[in-house]
Amino acid sequence: MNTAYLVDDRFLLHDDFDHPENAARLRSVLRTLESSQILPELTRLEPRDATMDEIVAVHHPRMIQHTQRMALFGGGRLNPDTYVVPESWEVATLAAGAVARAVEAVVGGEVRNAFALVRPPGHHATPSTAMGFCLINHVAVAAQVARQQLGIQRVAIIDWDTHHGNGTQDIFYDDPQVLYVSSHTYPFYPGTGHWRELGSGAGEGTTLNIPLPAHTGDRAFERVYETLVARAVRRFAPELIIVSAGYDCHWRDPLAPMAMSVTGFARLAQLVVALADEVCNGRLVCALEGGYDLQALAEGVLATLRVLQGKPELVADSLGTHPEAKLDLEPMIAAIARIHPLLT
Ligand SMILES: [Zn+2]
Repeated sequence: MNTAYLVDDRFLLHDDFDHPENAARLRSVLRTLESSQILPELTRLEPRDATMDEIVAVHHPRMIQHTQRMALFGGGRLNPDTYVVPESWEVATLAAGAVARAVEAVVGGEVRNAFALVRPPGHHATPSTAMGFCLINHVAVAAQVARQQLGIQRVAIIDWDTHHGNGTQDIFYDDPQVLYVSSHTYPFYPGTGHWRELGSGAGEGTTLNIPLPAHTGDRAFERVYETLVARAVRRFAPELIIVSAGYDCHWRDPLAPMAMSVTGFARLAQLVVALADEVCNGRLVCALEGGYDLQALAEGVLATLRVLQGKPELVADSLGTHPEAKLDLEPMIAAIARIHPLLT
């Protein structure tokens, strides 16, 4: 079975060239995918719009109306870092629907796995607030579509963006059927993601936060994923894995202080593909989140697609690795393994 990608020219309409989250990001990804010759080897799926019912399943109607109204009246700023243009609501609805369509195709057996190349990102959008460049939480919408429409009960969301996905965490914080795992720079925007944030009520233990210091690089990330992430996902036994795939942990990223390389992203993708093969028949969907160095972003997406299609030997990394800080994460890994209900 094939690997699918989903993209749409309308994702370019949400744009502010003065803002780091602009349409040049997706243009860079598309240019790189076209010149790599990978696209003919993949299945192209057309995104669909998310329905209002699907969006209301994760967001408060007042928040939706607020963004819609701002778009209708010509755009503006929902907060200092989150912009809206007249097309933004339509674009975000299509982006959420694209991730949902990817989930439908993977769960329905049309394709082996899929990558939704969407904009704007989604993981900071909470039930009631659009923030951090995000208008709708796409992976949350897609996880709920899987559970409410496709007969899936347990979904694991793995978030390797450099920022903590506070929105995704909030949406599923007391839900025992959705595991949210995030590795992220800490302390950093948006301020959440301490390891003691474990979920609450029936959902206690189905949130796993792995806060990482600045300058964390490939080897440390690999160690974190081989130990904590793999163990938590195995124990949780999901029927589907969705990845919030951000590329702002790359050493060249202008917004973040991490030290990963494109090769490092490929390695994380390999570990997650192997986990999906082991626990959920390979059912894996990636959704694009952040990544603000245009070349690192594009090469990171291409590397991930090469791994998804089972050709890791074709991963190319023209930017190379960065001297990795000698960080001893073992005490932190041991501490998280000791306190987290899913790991003990
Ligand atoms: Zn990010």
